[in-house]
Amino acid sequence: MISHRLLLRAGFMRQLAAGMYSLLPLGLRVVRKIENIVREEMDAAGAQELLLPALHPLELWEKTGRAEYWGDELMKLKDRGGRQFCLGGTHEEVITQLAAEVKSYRELPFTLYQIQTKFRDDPRPRGGLIRLREFTMKDAYSFDRDVPGLDVSYGKMLEAYHKILRRVGLPYHMVEASGGGMGGWDTVEFELPTETGESHYLRCEGCGYAATPEVAKATGEVAESAEAELALERVETPDQRTIEQVTAFLGLPASKLVKTLIYKAEGRVVAALVRGDRELSEDKLRALLGVRKLEMAEAATIARVSGAPVGFAGPVGIKGAEIVADEELRGERNFVTGGNEADLHLRNVNWGRDFEVKQWGDLRNVEAGDSCPKCGEALTAYRGIELAHIFKLGTIYSEALEAEFLDEDGQRKAMVMGCYGIGTTRMMAAVVEQFQDEAGIIWPPAVAPFDVVVICVNQDDEIQRGLAEKLYRELGEAGLEVLLEDRDERPGVKFKDADLMGIPGQVVVGRLAGEGKVEVRRRGGRTETVEAEQVKGTLDELLNEDTSG
Ligand SMILES: [Zn+2]
Repeated sequence: MISHRLLLRAGFMRQLAAGMYSLLPLGLRVVRKIENIVREEMDAAGAQELLLPALHPLELWEKTGRAEYWGDELMKLKDRGGRQFCLGGTHEEVITQLAAEVKSYRELPFTLYQIQTKFRDDPRPRGGLIRLREFTMKDAYSFDRDVPGLDVSYGKMLEAYHKILRRVGLPYHMVEASGGGMGGWDTVEFELPTETGESHYLRCEGCGYAATPEVAKATGEVAESAEAELALERVETPDQRTIEQVTAFLGLPASKLVKTLIYKAEGRVVAALVRGDRELSEDKLRALLGVRKLEMAEAATIARVSGAPVGFAGPVGIKGAEIVADEELRGERNFVTGGNEADLHLRNVNWGRDFEVKQWGDLRNVEAGDSCPKCGEALTAYRGIELAHIFKLGTIYSEALEAEFLDEDGQRKAMVMGCYGIGTTRMMAAVVEQFQDEAGIIWPPAVAPFDVVVICVNQDDEIQRGLAEKLYRELGEAGLEVLLEDRDERPGVKFKDADLMGIPGQVVVGRLAGEGKVEVRRRGGRTETVEAEQVKGTLDELLNEDTSG
């Protein structure tokens, strides 16, 4: 990614190991600016800052079921006594245990936040600061008496997030997303739209609706096939397992095939059917089945229910598996499925006649070109960098960890929670991804490491050196954060480095210093030659200009 390359070249960070970076002084200054904006908006929204440990007893994560849910992504370790710990990937468990101290409705609601280091054992850390094993984020948690209270707390955080992103200066889309397997609702991701991002989502240019392919509602009309039902046929398909192999072998389009995906869902075995050219959404399947935990069945389970090796399962004659099917298949006739025998597929399969569907539902990922569920216009595919993520948790954690309070009516109730995260180190990379040119970074003033760099072109020229040092002092006294470029380098090197580093204001003290004049430049914007006394005023003017184009 371009941000990775530029942040390394410009001296903002260094890699220690895969997914782990040291922030150098310039990088830390940017991250601190981002943190301060986040902190100010959290405080303004009524949230209170605290600091929780990074090291957690593993049993806390076992109580909520998340140790299992996270699996290897959770960094685990043992102390000398053999007790198990983990390095926090998030802090729901720790904060809920702390909140359990609250006993009465009179102490609610409240929202707590921290800016903390998080750890994730990502198998493929990449993209510089985008996917890390160790990173910092701000995570906030709200605690309320009931769902209407949660809606208010959530609304305040949503507003604060809009303010944070506007102040940083990043464009963003609000994208409906999935809360994953931990339940939760009203999940919204704030995405920076960029070709280099690793998130995928769909957006309607008409009304602004945006959602991930897994959660966007499929709303197109189901087209009824006009075909008459034909007699079921067995087709030998030696070693043809994948959709690509079977379609090529039979000379049919993928839309004529139906995929049978076998899942284990909290003790049930489910055969989920989607058209061969579609992707199944596990989020939608989880919601349809009403389960939190869902995993692809392993070969042994597939063999038990289908009687065949992996790649040949189908709905006809399958045993011990509930059949659920995507709505789109209602209109399909005479399709091809696995034959539940090695090297066998079935042709002219029809639901109702050849097998029964226990449950129909919207199960497929929505694709670019599908219609917007709000206004019907065609959806466009986007890629983005996830900047922030908020959702309503309800009582999942408070029930598991007994964070209860005595309500006004004398009833003991579990606190109703919301959760709000924003990546601060990632945000630095996202800003660079958005604001740069061939010469380097162009920091928006709000998060720049310094406001202005004073460049002394010729360090051996006493007049230039004297004026540069004077301006450095005066601008600093006037409240600006100033960097003095006083290295003994060639002018070309100094200009190149200043552009690479991307500090928004540049004051160039060169040949005109003898006449008391200097050049004032906006990185990525215009340049003016002014009297030394006018530098501050010109800088204020130039730094207020919008150069984001
Ligand atoms: Zn729309």
